[in-house]
Amino acid sequence: MKYDLAIIGAGPAGYTVAETAAKKGLKTLLFEKDKLGGVCLNEGCIPTKTLLYSAKILDLMKNASKYGLKLTGGEAAFDLDKMMTRKTKTLRKLAAGIKTRLADSGVVWVTGEAHIAGESDGTIEVVCGSESYRTDYLLLCTGSEALVPPIKGLEAVDSWTSKEALNCDSLPERISIIGGGVIGLEFASLFNSLGVKVQVIEMQTEILPGLDRELASLLRKEYEKKSVVFHTGTRVLEALPDNSLIVERAGESLVIEADRLLVCVGRRPFTSGLGLEKLGLEGSGGALPVDKHMRTKHPRVYAAGDITGHSMLAHTAIREAAVALNHILGINDTMSYAALPAVVYTNPELASVGKSEEELVAASVAYRVVQLPMTYSGRFVAENEGVNGLCKLLLDKDNHILGCHMLGNPASELIPLAALAIGRSYSPDLFRGLVFPHPSVSEIFHELGLH
Ligand SMILES: Cc1cc2nc3c(=O)[nH]c(=O)nc-3n(C[C@H](O)[C@H](O)[C@H](O)COP(=O)(O)OP(=O)(O)OC[C@H]3O[C@@H](n4cnc5c(N)ncnc54)[C@H](O)[C@@H]3O)c2cc1C
Repeated sequence: MKYDLAIIGAGPAGYTVAETAAKKGLKTLLFEKDKLGGVCLNEGCIPTKTLLYSAKILDLMKNASKYGLKLTGGEAAFDLDKMMTRKTKTLRKLAAGIKTRLADSGVVWVTGEAHIAGESDGTIEVVCGSESYRTDYLLLCTGSEALVPPIKGLEAVDSWTSKEALNCDSLPERISIIGGGVIGLEFASLFNSLGVKVQVIEMQTEILPGLDRELASLLRKEYEKKSVVFHTGTRVLEALPDNSLIVERAGESLVIEADRLLVCVGRRPFTSGLGLEKLGLEGSGGALPVDKHMRTKHPRVYAAGDITGHSMLAHTAIREAAVALNHILGINDTMSYAALPAVVYTNPELASVGKSEEELVAASVAYRVVQLPMTYSGRFVAENEGVNGLCKLLLDKDNHILGCHMLGNPASELIPLAALAIGRSYSPDLFRGLVFPHPSVSEIFHELGLH
């Protein structure tokens, strides 16, 4: 049987688009070599947020007295085994939901590793195990894998990537996290809440490279107050068998001791062994180049998600796959990265959308900043004892919002409002004219509209 669309990889890009394609009447085939849901559901977004939520409750319990509460009969504590069990249950529940949705929409899915076999008579051939499948269109959603840098001695150390950290059955006393990006910070937050002594080693001069520098610095200070040690501007030279790191900072070498190393230096698009060359395609620095319709050099082969190397976020993956499907269906749609939010799920959360000041300065774009402490929101003050926060809007000369950067809970839930404003080229007048529920943290946007 010939399919209209075959998709390789059932992560957020693959499984969401498979469901839509089938509902739109395409005969849709989905290959997955591991678990439905991909990295996001099984070893990324969802397991981290599930564990971080337990950690957040623990933080609240530890700080109960600040809210006029007390724990009778003992200290706030956690049970790692039960936290992990709850995480597994959460993943199972969501995986079951994906299965039902795929089945209900009529997607045919095949478990196994798929490879491109070639093309004949205008049809693309994909093999999986001993079976061969034919399809008019192919969408590659094979995602990414953790990058392990070529650090001397690292291969001989029993280090963790995010995958092992999410499945650990015991905690080290001290952990060194190599990489102060989003994933490194989320793990720093988790382990810090669970009482592990955390050190973060970041090569750049500030954590969270690429995000707003001022907010990154404020977040770093929040975690320094909680005893996390940051080594910024620091390069790892060597890993020793006892989990120590020899690092170099400002020309000096020093040793950072730990009981476990966690490597969080980024992810690499996954294209190896796919058989791209059979269709005249090749990766560039690991990523597969695509045009604004998510189409590769081949007119009937598309790619979406981490494989394209664009933003390595699940919601980007979902949108890219939707754009690809629309193009296949002849619906006019193009991919824009201008208003895609990014969130660091620390406690407090940091969320960003649009341009950062650093990007605007580099591009010589004139802008002005309107910013307010989160304490302008009564609800924020009521719910955040001893935590500072900041929300800033970056505006162009016509008062259009170019970027929004926010530190404070629940930034992840509020940032879509700014994304909408950026996507539609609105000015903060929009926020002034909107009625926000009172008291709510979202009122910070109304306050910014008044400034
Ligand atoms: C620790 C961690 C936390 C994260 N947290 C967040 C977050 O909070 N928010 C966010 O937006 N993003 C987060 N991400 C990133 C997010 O997980 C990815 O951006 C997202 O999963 C990418 O989706 P995808 O569909 O491109 O690929 P993936 O989710 O990587 O899925 C690709 C799938 O393709 C399958 N596959 C590969 N090759 C083949 C083949 N040849 N045949 C069959 N199947 C194949 C793989 O087994 C995999 O299941 C996180 C990532 C990590 C590691």
